[in-house]
Amino acid sequence: MGAMPNYNKMRRIVLLGAPVDAVTLEEAVERAAAFIREGGPHQVLTLNPEYLYRALREPHLMEIVRRAALVTADGVGIVWAARMLGQPVPERVTGIDLMTALAARAAREGWRVFLLGASPGVAEAAAAKLAARFPGFQVAGAHHGYFAPEDEPKLLQRINAARPDVLFVALGAPKQEVWIARNLNTLRVPVVMGVGGSFDVLAGRVKRAPAVLRRLHLEWLGRLVYEPRRWRRMLVLPKFVWTVLVERLRGVLCRRK
Ligand code: UDP
Repeated sequence: MGAMPNYNKMRRIVLLGAPVDAVTLEEAVERAAAFIREGGPHQVLTLNPEYLYRALREPHLMEIVRRAALVTADGVGIVWAARMLGQPVPERVTGIDLMTALAARAAREGWRVFLLGASPGVAEAAAAKLAARFPGFQVAGAHHGYFAPEDEPKLLQRINAARPDVLFVALGAPKQEVWIARNLNTLRVPVVMGVGGSFDVLAGRVKRAPAVLRRLHLEWLGRLVYEPRRWRRMLVLPKFVWTVLVERLRGVLCRRK
């Protein structure tokens, strides 16, 4: 067995042009805590292969990643790619795991949490689940994710008036990342993070893969079974893998010269 790599807490790698912070789940929570102490808005982005692959073709999506205050490796695909390209990250930090860990910490610290997104009623249900699971969890507010553009100014006002420390945005990727980036400077919220379909999962609207699949890093397989519409989106993975392999080959050839 080789020596364990030494992961500097502030280490940031660059993966196909996208920054990724080499943090554990625990360290990601610490960074969020620092953002709350500092004040001022920060975007937290959990980067998955789907998003990164799309960002390679859509520069505005890449720009959002570059500007984010914290970017985590969301899923085994990004962790694998980082290792392949010689810049390993300590572990995967998925949206739902980071959201849950932040909720637990929020309950202990008294941080106020606002949930924005998903179908009407789901954000409230997800907030109730978190409050039941983590005693002391303070819900600053909840709002569904199907608002018209003209209702946005009011919604932003309502969020700011609720004075949250953390805002979870569940509009799906990359819509939520674009929304957060566009409104970050209007939002007086220290931690703003996109969480995809996590409210649905928390509220019990979709099932999470069984623990055995999760342990084997096969959560994606469970999602394919429960949500067949994901098949089409999954097809980006082989293309992502191919892109990483080409990049690696290029690296090897360049070093030879
Ligand atoms: N959603 C929303 N407003 C929209 C589009 C989507 O609130 O305009 C919600 C949708 O109800 C779901 C989530 O965003 O709760 C998207 O979940 P999905 O699992 O598709 O996102 P991913 O995890 O792939 O980013």
